[in-house]
Amino acid sequence: MKISIVGTGYVGLCTGVGLAVKGHNVTCVDIDKEKVEKINTGKSPIYEPGLGENLARVLKEGRFRATGDIKGAITNSDVTFISVGTPSREDGSIDLKYIKQASRNIGNVLREKQGWHVVVVKSTVIPGTTEGVVKKNLEEASGKKAGKDFGLCMNPEFLREGKALEGFLNPDRVVIGELDKKSGDPVAGLYEGFRAPVMRTGIKTAEMIKYASNALLATKISFINEIGNICKKLGIDTYDVAKGMGMDKRISPQFLQSGLGWGGSCFLKDVAAIVAKGKELGCMAGLLESVIKVNEEQPGVLLKLAEGKAGSVQGKTIAVLGLAFKPDSDDIRESRSIPLIKALRKKGANIVVYDPKAMENMKVFFPDIEYAGSAKEAVGKAEIVLIATGWEEFKDPELYGNKIVIDGRNIFKDGKKLDNYEGLCW
Ligand code: NAD
Repeated sequence: MKISIVGTGYVGLCTGVGLAVKGHNVTCVDIDKEKVEKINTGKSPIYEPGLGENLARVLKEGRFRATGDIKGAITNSDVTFISVGTPSREDGSIDLKYIKQASRNIGNVLREKQGWHVVVVKSTVIPGTTEGVVKKNLEEASGKKAGKDFGLCMNPEFLREGKALEGFLNPDRVVIGELDKKSGDPVAGLYEGFRAPVMRTGIKTAEMIKYASNALLATKISFINEIGNICKKLGIDTYDVAKGMGMDKRISPQFLQSGLGWGGSCFLKDVAAIVAKGKELGCMAGLLESVIKVNEEQPGVLLKLAEGKAGSVQGKTIAVLGLAFKPDSDDIRESRSIPLIKALRKKGANIVVYDPKAMENMKVFFPDIEYAGSAKEAVGKAEIVLIATGWEEFKDPELYGNKIVIDGRNIFKDGKKLDNYEGLCW
């Protein structure tokens, strides 16, 4: 099938490369010219395991390209995915400016295009958006009617960064929210080669499945962090508690790793957006508000542990190991290292940081802290080491000598054997 994708970020690029790997013909569109050029030279603008190699392969095989020309891309395809960003507004509610713009741009092209074309929203959008905002903008710009002249679907994406391409290609399930069967059929056809159950449902339900899934995953982490803070005071290792809990099939061991908390581009904005929508509808979302609050407090808990062990951090050199919000990613959006660095700066510490992939991204936020060339160099300069991301290369106990280490990610199985080691929730 011929596919166009509007918005070539983490989701758009992984979807595009993934569908090209599956044999489809894909054109990715983006307004960022630099990104388009980079992709067309075979270089991925983001770090994701396997993405670079597969991008180079599908480009070479002629099944994938990037462009700034939305007209050409849509005219020469049968299905268009929208995967632009859906950031938060100041009050936590969803900002739909990119969605509106992309829908209007697609509608303008559909005005001239002949034949059945299906528009699929892949961005995470609050329930009601696809059949409200997207449909309205598409219909106004095209002068055509959804369901009669073109199809409309909502197909949420559940990939996780650090395993994004693998996650796209091997999902646990595929959810297709469809306006009608004629809209959903070609989208279901795209996933035929995937070994995953396909759930076809209404559009609003598909939108909500994504929010409810992210809200529950964030809740599990904040839950185990709250339990973990109590365990720490009681001298209990939360990982043993989580192991015992996770053996229960109703609970599962997934997302029960306590520590510094969750980050990334999605959890905070999605949980905040559903809280804001609930409030707008007169529904309290106190549980989800607490999920955010617990997460915001974890960096402060780690810092308190450091101060308990080493006294005031003022004037001391502190190494922060790990800037990406998770290992195997260069994404720093909502990374827990950001509030940690801010708090350290406020307390007058000298900060030296290291991350194998995310340092260039972090320099934009904190140009004035020290960036070390290796973990060893950062540790060597510091009096206290704070582990903020569980990168594989930080798991070497030899790295730390007799430095004070506060581990926010439980990276050592036998960390407690290190002198001066302190875990966050264990
Ligand atoms: P991103 O910010 O990495 O990428 C968005 C891209 O859209 C950018 O490259 C931007 O230049 C482009 N863009 C904006 N307006 C455009 C327009 N009018 N035409 C063409 N391109 C345009 O975002 P992302 O992380 O890929 O997320 C996209 C959506 O997918 C969001 O709704 C997000 O919540 C959702 N999502 C993200 C993840 C994730 O792990 N990142 C996972 C699942 C779902």
